[in-house]
Amino acid sequence: MYGDVVCGVDHEHFEYAFDKIKKKYRAAEDNDVPTEGMIELCEVYKKVFRQHYGKPFPQDPIKQLELAVEAVFRSWMQSRAIRYRQVENITGLLGTAVNVQSMVFGNMGDDSGTGVAFTRDPSTGKNEFYGEFLVNAQGEDVVAGIRTPQPVAKMSKWNKKIYEQLLKIKTKLEKHYRDVQDIEFTIEKGKLFMLQTRNGKRTGAAAVKIACDMVKEKLITEKQGVTRIPAGDLTQLLLPSFSPAGKKAATVLTKGLPASPGAASGKPAFTAAEAVERTLNGETVLLVRKETNPEDIDGMHSAAGILTSTGGMTSHAAVVARGWGRCCVAGAGEIQISEKGRKFTVGGKTYTYKDVISIDGSTGEVMAGEVPTQTPKLSGDFTTVMKWADKYRKLQVRTNADTPADAKRARDFGAQGIGLCRTEHMFFEGERILAMREMILAENEEDRKTALKKLLPVQRKDFVGIFTAMKGLPVTIRLLDPPLHEFLPHDDKSQAEMASRLGVKRSVVKNRVQALHEMNPMLGHRGCRLAVTYPEILDMQVTAITEAVIACKQKKIDAQAEIMIPLVGTARELELLGTRVREVMEEVRLAKKFKGKLGILVGTMIEIPRAALTADQVAETADFFSFGTNDLTQMTFGYSRDDINTFLPDYLSEEILPRDPFQTLDTTGVGQLVEMGVKKGRATKSKLKCGICGEHGGDPDSIDFCHQVGLDYVSCSPFRVPIARLAAAQAALQNGK
Ligand code: PEP
Ligand code: MG
Repeated sequence: MYGDVVCGVDHEHFEYAFDKIKKKYRAAEDNDVPTEGMIELCEVYKKVFRQHYGKPFPQDPIKQLELAVEAVFRSWMQSRAIRYRQVENITGLLGTAVNVQSMVFGNMGDDSGTGVAFTRDPSTGKNEFYGEFLVNAQGEDVVAGIRTPQPVAKMSKWNKKIYEQLLKIKTKLEKHYRDVQDIEFTIEKGKLFMLQTRNGKRTGAAAVKIACDMVKEKLITEKQGVTRIPAGDLTQLLLPSFSPAGKKAATVLTKGLPASPGAASGKPAFTAAEAVERTLNGETVLLVRKETNPEDIDGMHSAAGILTSTGGMTSHAAVVARGWGRCCVAGAGEIQISEKGRKFTVGGKTYTYKDVISIDGSTGEVMAGEVPTQTPKLSGDFTTVMKWADKYRKLQVRTNADTPADAKRARDFGAQGIGLCRTEHMFFEGERILAMREMILAENEEDRKTALKKLLPVQRKDFVGIFTAMKGLPVTIRLLDPPLHEFLPHDDKSQAEMASRLGVKRSVVKNRVQALHEMNPMLGHRGCRLAVTYPEILDMQVTAITEAVIACKQKKIDAQAEIMIPLVGTARELELLGTRVREVMEEVRLAKKFKGKLGILVGTMIEIPRAALTADQVAETADFFSFGTNDLTQMTFGYSRDDINTFLPDYLSEEILPRDPFQTLDTTGVGQLVEMGVKKGRATKSKLKCGICGEHGGDPDSIDFCHQVGLDYVSCSPFRVPIARLAAAQAALQNGK
């Protein structure tokens, strides 16, 4: 081990030499070699060492120690150590410390041994001593898996006294650290030595159970219980996951971004239509695409999971999948997709539409074959933890939802309103996308109004459904913000189909699509800019919202609408559009002869840096702010939301960025704009309601920041609502604000 770990001589050379000796002495196990064989082995090892290291084995113990210490320091930069830090988000550290301590030996005979154990089961949380031990062995033998260890419970048969002593120590350690301990121990000639103890890593389910049990056992307080559960790990309780044994046996083909948690297996479908058709025929498929767009929505919905080879954490596939709690791995760049050939290649192997693959949306892994899953059951402990969280948190938790079904699901998870209803998402399905395209492609106001007339009743009905599902709770509806390219047909076939549906020549559609082409559509004719040039779109949407509010109120349904104007960069934009919104609301109210109060707020998103910088002016005409940190991050960094994945892996491995800024808010830079936006906004209106609706609203670290800068609420996809509730409580308890 010294030769290998400290001096870099490959352990194979030593193993080869040892095998020869074992053969000579007819020894099956290492321990069976007699003393003279071991003496012989020492000499052979010295030769092997010298041959490969170039120098003799150091005989001075101080020199040996020095080299060992240096090796530990060096281990910090080993590739697996670097990878571990990346996975665990450990950044900004200089290196590792070294402890020097005297050794005890577990391989001094049958009254010696070694083991590793957890004070409770780290996988289920059950209060059961959990671990393994090996007689006449060193710690390395347990880890290397050369010999099969025995369960720790069997230790009582081997040495009852030692086992009882170990049980006592285990209880003492738990009481002292007030947390599950991961311990290592060695028995040297019948005497127990504890080598190390540390807090044990555990699954989400175990974390919840252990926290609840320890509060019951009065080992920790309720507040400590809340802070003990990594909020993000609750995902594991809410979605199906692959069983640990299944994953251990699986072949990993490649790794993409863990875009939407969950576990899914199925045969690849390479187009949305194929996914729909094959699902209807009873197959389970995964939609495998370079990227997705609204045209794929049906296929995305039909598929058990989504795998893309490009795109980042806020790509279309990722956002939509998270909203549905659908498993998604995005940006798996090593996959080469041939849509025509109905196959993809990765690592030199080809997988066709007939081959089952599995994707893990929590880790980004893509695996061959069907990996067995385990379904979650929400325990009473989960409900207890949620109750605690609600007791301590200050932040409200809303959801991003665009349909009554999503709204209901989020409400069941404890959402206190909708923080973002993306109205363009309401047009994804069936006939609706056609009317939407007709509206976008219209060349004059009249044609546009004709298309809008078709959309109005659809919108009104949806809003009534959402207000009803969320009755008594606020619902923020964002006016249309479609990146136009996402809604237009780009290939000849779709354009021809569109032309025939609209009863126009193919060239008309083609020319209009060309005319609307933008070099950078994410910075183009979107958001409030659309309402400035085509105010009739705003009119239709505000009419639909107001009519829906009135219809609900007349049925005694407490609809609480908030109209949100997106992508505002100047106070004047909001002033102009806000005025128009209020005028339309009043016109509808009069037309409907509604006597009561509409109570509709009119606010804006802060997602352009200039809006944050001039938030005091923007607040003049805003009833509320909602920070759209997806676009705010994009525009502050100048990184495209959809293309960041081409360089992000290098930025992370070089530690240029500590985290993906589209996943965890960059508090240093983008955060300043959020903080400034809140301060300036409230300098104008002290009670200005402020929230966040970018993807960061469901990220625990970002939620902590939101708490610190005094936001009123965070809004996230339905499946992240419990995570946000817990993270908000942790922020309140840990910041003491
Ligand atoms: C945002 O930009 O943060 C946001 C919520 O809007 P969208 O993601 O729809 O652009
Ligand atoms: Mg936005």
